[in-house]
Amino acid sequence: MSQPLILSGKEVARTVYQDLQPRIARLKAKGVTPGLAVILVGDDPASRVYVRSKSRRFENLDLISETFTYPADISQAQLLDQIGHLNHDPRFHGILVQMPLPSSLDEAAVIEAISPEKDVDGFHPYNVGRLTSGQPTFIPCTPKGILRILSHYHLRLDGKHVVVVGRSNIVGRPLSILASLKNPSGNATTTLCHSRTRDIFAHTSQADVVVAALGQAEFIRGEHVRDGVILIDVGINRLADSSEKGYHLTGDVHFPSAAEKAAAITPVPGGVGPMTIAMLVENTVEAAEKLTA
Ligand code: NDP
Repeated sequence: MSQPLILSGKEVARTVYQDLQPRIARLKAKGVTPGLAVILVGDDPASRVYVRSKSRRFENLDLISETFTYPADISQAQLLDQIGHLNHDPRFHGILVQMPLPSSLDEAAVIEAISPEKDVDGFHPYNVGRLTSGQPTFIPCTPKGILRILSHYHLRLDGKHVVVVGRSNIVGRPLSILASLKNPSGNATTTLCHSRTRDIFAHTSQADVVVAALGQAEFIRGEHVRDGVILIDVGINRLADSSEKGYHLTGDVHFPSAAEKAAAITPVPGGVGPMTIAMLVENTVEAAEKLTA
């Protein structure tokens, strides 16, 4: 196989930010600066890193991003009360609760407390229902980013067999639904694999497109896919090494062996990750437009 097309999420994200500039300018001309409220509970180091990189992006674009940090022992009632305030605060058009929450809190109830109009993560059951029925409002950022990468590189899913590995509510499941919708960015035949799937590689080796979203470093290797496959690697795993940092990032795909078979592949880092943040910005701009129309 010749060299695969490298699907650079970093590059696609740049075009997303460019395309958002006139929309942001129009809002600012009306006196509206798109604003995101981020709720961070506890002191999970990975969550802090994610929240910081999201906030930095908003600041770079001169948008509002404010992080509300609470101790891990905040009560459910207090947290719901805070979300209630943010639902009514006109400075914020989007509200994001950084997951995972401490086990003492009920994640589903917290998500349901967010106003669907400000649910820029697209996790509220109202928005999930709309997505499932083919009338999406806010599409979860990672699946939306994956579809945007594919359309940027003119890679169509229509008629293809897409195998998604991982069924989380934030990545695998919504992506499998979006890919199967009857519309131009969908029309795929989808298979959704998870930890109870028997012989996952029997599925991946038949796929035209494999989306690896399971959180297991280098799980999918060249021998598990067929020639000409399109590979989307969502995983972000830290592998210990002897570098100064002590680790490096790797995806759920073993890049060197998979790249030998693939027609197109996303790298880690620089693939799906930057698109997740770009889609969060896009959803927040969209929320600001709708709320101030
Ligand atoms: P979750 O842990 O919520 O879900 C993992 C899914 O993978 C589950 O459905 C699980 O099955 C399945 N799974 C786990 N191990 C196996 C296995 N050995 N074989 C088959 N299926 C398996 O993960 P997320 O969806 O939140 O994240 C997945 C990965 O993507 C992580 O590395 C995460 O860091 C990364 N990520 C990256 C983002 C980005 O912007 N690039 C954004 C979000 C996540 P079961 O349901 O049966 O337990």
